[in-house]
Amino acid sequence: MRWDGQSVTADDGALPGLGRAGLGRTVTTPDFAGVTFHEVLARSALSKVPGESLPFRWTVNPYRGCLHRCVYCFARPTHRYLDLDPGDDFDRQIVVKTNVAEVLRAELSRPSWCHEPVALGTNTDPYQRAEGRYRLMPGIVDALASSGTPFSVLTKGTLLRRDLPTLADAAREVDVRAAVSVAVLDPELQQSLEPGTPTARARLDLVRAVRDAGLPCRVMVAPVLPWLTDSTAHLEGLLDQVVAAGATGATVLPLTLRPGAREWFLAWLARERPRLVAGYRRVYGSGTTASRGYRSWLAARVRPLLAARGLDRDTEEGAPRFVPRDPARSGRPAPRAAPAGPTLF
Ligand code: SF4
Repeated sequence: MRWDGQSVTADDGALPGLGRAGLGRTVTTPDFAGVTFHEVLARSALSKVPGESLPFRWTVNPYRGCLHRCVYCFARPTHRYLDLDPGDDFDRQIVVKTNVAEVLRAELSRPSWCHEPVALGTNTDPYQRAEGRYRLMPGIVDALASSGTPFSVLTKGTLLRRDLPTLADAAREVDVRAAVSVAVLDPELQQSLEPGTPTARARLDLVRAVRDAGLPCRVMVAPVLPWLTDSTAHLEGLLDQVVAAGATGATVLPLTLRPGAREWFLAWLARERPRLVAGYRRVYGSGTTASRGYRSWLAARVRPLLAARGLDRDTEEGAPRFVPRDPARSGRPAPRAAPAGPTLF
């Protein structure tokens, strides 16, 4: 689940259509059947988030499109800016910024860079399966840490395990926070909604691994789907497992349906759960967010469940603390703390 409110214009502007995106080559490989990778040389890596609605102003997105293929994905409309469609193309036409770490390193070394927190995974998932092939994240993490820039990573991808030693090393330099998205316990429903993702069990095990590496890790229980995953029994069962995995907190958010994502999700709903279509029309109307009434109802249901489990606050005992650099020695202003996980959502 991506951060709601991030405009599609939040990206770096380097990819308005593949033709102008610095396209290097297009790749297909038997290891990724049905997938096309478009390798591009990005002109910029840091993307400024417009507006004041989010607690971070900068993101890095090494990939466009996502092999996790969540039917509700908030980022789907961004593919239109590449002259690709937000449905099937988003799932199968993946743009890879192969030089992202190098460009990022140059941007972070500018005297004007203020070492503000950078959020990874706010648009597409940096630990989707493509990362196994391209290995862009270690360079990104190293660039951020060595420049004194705090950062956070949000993912559904268990591939993050590969980089736990790198992330733990980075946490000795700057504040590093992880968040894992887990919203659906039922395996059949989860695979239907998120066909390219690891199971909920595997992601909860990832939370445990992140905590064992000494890093804070929150869980994003998002999106919550009316009538599908919003029962007290489901939420309690999931939050119990979140606690058992050692998460430092959790945030629960309802589904949003932005244009582009909305059509794709509603097509899935009509196909897989046709009896719910009328109910979703009532809850969402023609809007992006659930009705005020639904959001209030869900918040009231969730609040005591989080509080009873101590998940409504960041409990980071044992997690590495932010180590501010000495500005007098580094010549840089002391960096701010990383985005505080899903308390920001
Ligand atoms: S994991 Fe990928 S497809 Fe799923 S919501 Fe996140 S960015 Fe979208």
